[in-house]
Amino acid sequence: MATFEYAPAPESRSIVDIEPSYGLYIGGEMVDLIDGSRFKTVNPATEEVLSEVVAAGPQDVDRAVDAARAAYDGTWSRLSGRDRGKYLYRLARLVQERSRELAVLESIDNGKPIRESRDVDVPLVAAHFFYYAGWADKLGYAGFGPDPRPLGVAAQVIPWNFPLLMLAWKIAPALACGNTVVLKPAETTPLTALAFADICQQADLPPGVVNIVTGAGDTGRALVEHPGVDKVAFTGSTEVGRQIARSVAGTCKKVTLELGGKAANVVFDDAPLDQAVEGIVNGIFFNQGHVCCAGSRLLVQESVGDELLALLKRRLTTLRLGDPLDKNTDIGAINSAEQLDKIRMLSEVGETEGAERWSPPCELPERGFWFPPTVFTGVSQSHRIAREEIFGPVLSVLTFRTPTEAVEKANNTPYGLSAGVWTDKGSRILWMAQKLRAGVVWANTFNRFDPTSPFGGYKESGYGREGGRHGLGGYLDV
Ligand code: NAD
Repeated sequence: MATFEYAPAPESRSIVDIEPSYGLYIGGEMVDLIDGSRFKTVNPATEEVLSEVVAAGPQDVDRAVDAARAAYDGTWSRLSGRDRGKYLYRLARLVQERSRELAVLESIDNGKPIRESRDVDVPLVAAHFFYYAGWADKLGYAGFGPDPRPLGVAAQVIPWNFPLLMLAWKIAPALACGNTVVLKPAETTPLTALAFADICQQADLPPGVVNIVTGAGDTGRALVEHPGVDKVAFTGSTEVGRQIARSVAGTCKKVTLELGGKAANVVFDDAPLDQAVEGIVNGIFFNQGHVCCAGSRLLVQESVGDELLALLKRRLTTLRLGDPLDKNTDIGAINSAEQLDKIRMLSEVGETEGAERWSPPCELPERGFWFPPTVFTGVSQSHRIAREEIFGPVLSVLTFRTPTEAVEKANNTPYGLSAGVWTDKGSRILWMAQKLRAGVVWANTFNRFDPTSPFGGYKESGYGREGGRHGLGGYLDV
């Protein structure tokens, strides 16, 4: 199929101002490290070094937790909900005002296409702050009793796939409920969290209400294990989630864990197939497949399997892979060399185990971390590519004959974060939604997010819900 040729339409990089090095945001100001070290953050699309950031050490973490405690006792827990709401509205508006800069920064540090950071990530960040700003003075009506109390200091650790959006999911409800926070962004994507520190200063947020400590796993561990925190909120891999659950067991810390997924996207023979193809593409190739709720397993009813695959392959030949800052780009860079290795390794395992691998003709840039959109057919339930989270642009296709078989295959996973159903029949959608063991079930769409809607998993996808009224429960003493 002919693809239109587009001239490059790069977004301007000059709108962002990246410092050569950053400190830690503690107590309302950027401070130097005490016992940490420094490391570099790179642009995954070019391998260019962007800046040097701190890997906070135990004393740095101590200092951040102390600042959060002082702010909790001294100001934030004493403010009325109405006043907390005003600060949250201010943060939301500043995110909107600086949205172009934030989108460019996110794409540079993460590798995701500007089309996504501009149209999905950053608007949802603002929406989250607006939404929880609205709750701040209405907590007594949220269903948790007339006067629910905050928990205290929240330790929040987030992954690299939606750096600023995950920050918003964590910080907005915590602050609305009256908690203060210490947040650790992922080691490969610290820059938008540091830009958010600047936004907190601009909003005149009382010092210590939000603290940002950068670093890798050791910093995260020091933070979640710190005796001065009352709440741990973690989004990341199931493996690290398990370690955290073990480390907080026996303490009074409240925990929410948002972990991995291996979602089934189930297409029945009466589905509008063209529409389903768009949903499949959005389900697994959005954000290079670095999505916890990605539709990484396509379950297609056998009678329309060949037709759907032909349509899907045709569509994939039209995807544009390349410069994340180009507004025409559909598929950006893989976030890190380590993640690229993991995707390559699991794809090779897929071939060795006997599945058939296909990618559209696709030129990969020479520098940076890239992987073409990939589809595996002839996949069976026991294959590792059908069971393990690849967290990349790789789709495993399985078939089914009856709705019962679809449900059995969809639920045959240790995860339970999300699922998709494509069918013309409303009754079948409702039946499937009841049977599927997944926190979110999308019907005739996929990867739609809204701050009013709770999000979270069953089984090894974690526990607790973020978003919506439910998201308040994790930050209140209820
Ligand atoms: P990861 O678990 O390796 O890292 C996540 C964060 O935890 C990072 O900030 C990391 O520095 C930190 N960390 C690492 N070891 C730690 C430890 N021992 N103690 C405390 N913190 C530690 O995951 P990742 O590779 O960054 O992210 C990908 C994973 O995140 C995928 O499995 C994906 O499914 C999951 N994810 C889940 C959701 C969700 O809402 N369920 C959303 C996005 C990503």
